[in-house]
Amino acid sequence: MKIHEYQAKEILAKYGVAVPRGEVATTLDEAATAANNLFHAGVPGVVVKAQIHAGGRGKGGGVKLAKNLDEANLHSKNILGMQLITHQTGPQGQKVQRLWIEEASQIDRELYLGIVLDRATAKLVFMASQAGGMEIEEVAAKTPEAIYKEYIDPAVGFQPYQARKLAFKLGLKPTQINEAVKFMIGLYKAFVDTDCSLLEINPFITTREDKLVALDCKINFDDNAMFRHRDLKELRDIAEEDPLEVEASKYALNYIKLDGNIACMVNGAGLAMATMDIIQYAGGSPANFLDVGGGANQQQIENAFEILLSDKNVKAIFINIFGGILRVDTLANGVVAAAKKLDVKLPIVLRLEGTNVEEGRKILADSGLNFLVGATMKEAADLVVNAAKGK
Ligand code: GDP
Ligand code: MN
Repeated sequence: MKIHEYQAKEILAKYGVAVPRGEVATTLDEAATAANNLFHAGVPGVVVKAQIHAGGRGKGGGVKLAKNLDEANLHSKNILGMQLITHQTGPQGQKVQRLWIEEASQIDRELYLGIVLDRATAKLVFMASQAGGMEIEEVAAKTPEAIYKEYIDPAVGFQPYQARKLAFKLGLKPTQINEAVKFMIGLYKAFVDTDCSLLEINPFITTREDKLVALDCKINFDDNAMFRHRDLKELRDIAEEDPLEVEASKYALNYIKLDGNIACMVNGAGLAMATMDIIQYAGGSPANFLDVGGGANQQQIENAFEILLSDKNVKAIFINIFGGILRVDTLANGVVAAAKKLDVKLPIVLRLEGTNVEEGRKILADSGLNFLVGATMKEAADLVVNAAKGK
């Protein structure tokens, strides 16, 4: 689950991590009040920041500095409601529905801090870099040596000596080292306590007054841990999520939107990945994948179909199921019922294996509907790629 920058900063503040003060706004009136409050408190300037669940807002025009109230109001007017396009939103952009107005900082240096799970070592890794502010993905790709890493032993947690090492590598002044250590330990505690899957401070700044501040913060939570964080669940903003993904989550279906034209219904994450690969291998491109999970029932199959069909880019449907707990005959009944009820006109290609596969194939053959069945994954992939091309 993703949250907004301002929500992430509220969490950081609870862990003693310095963040600029600010207020959230969903209307221009609220934005004006927020800016007015800050100027009234004597700040030299404010920053108007678009709140969307994507990075790169600065480059896209979603982060603007204002020296006075008029400027702040003008920026708010331009940013609130805009379709903000960044390298993370895709070309259609994301509509800005919330603003965060915060006191402007006098930046000395822009650095980077981040914590993620490193799957290769099965450990959390704390990363730091002097190349903050810009796209860290680019730094990682072109100059990976500019990112310093400390792997965290889960038995003992992040140690102060590790934080000190990173602080020195960031080239901080001797007088800033202790504060930086506290800062990093605060981030680590926040990460662990709230079950983050990612926590990034970019930029982590030093100010002209020699303070250390989290100027931006991105937090993702581990969905599998959300059951033990009721309070954090309330931070979810479904306006930021793909409507079809939200719909799918209501039925406990895992749906991920992609940008090709072949809809994929699969069971299990591994099979989903293999399906994406084989479609690409056959020269096609997946529009999405929908994982119906291990124990789907007929109703869920119907719901899954409805979601797949509401994606306007879809030209063909690929159902790739290995019947384990979900038996193939249950799936076939669901598919036939859904195809009839929704009057599906698109070609449907199936590749079925597993429990009750013969019964399943018979149900499809007897349905009077026109399904294409591939004997192997490769054959089915070729069929569906051709079908999507109208061949
Ligand atoms: P992002 O583009 O979505 O990552 O948004 P950020 O919050 O990181 O802001 C982008 C950039 O705007 C930062 O890297 C800074 O250079 C600049 N910026 C943000 N807040 C301030 C501020 O208070 N003062 C100054 N001078 N620049 C800021
Ligand atoms: Mn940033």
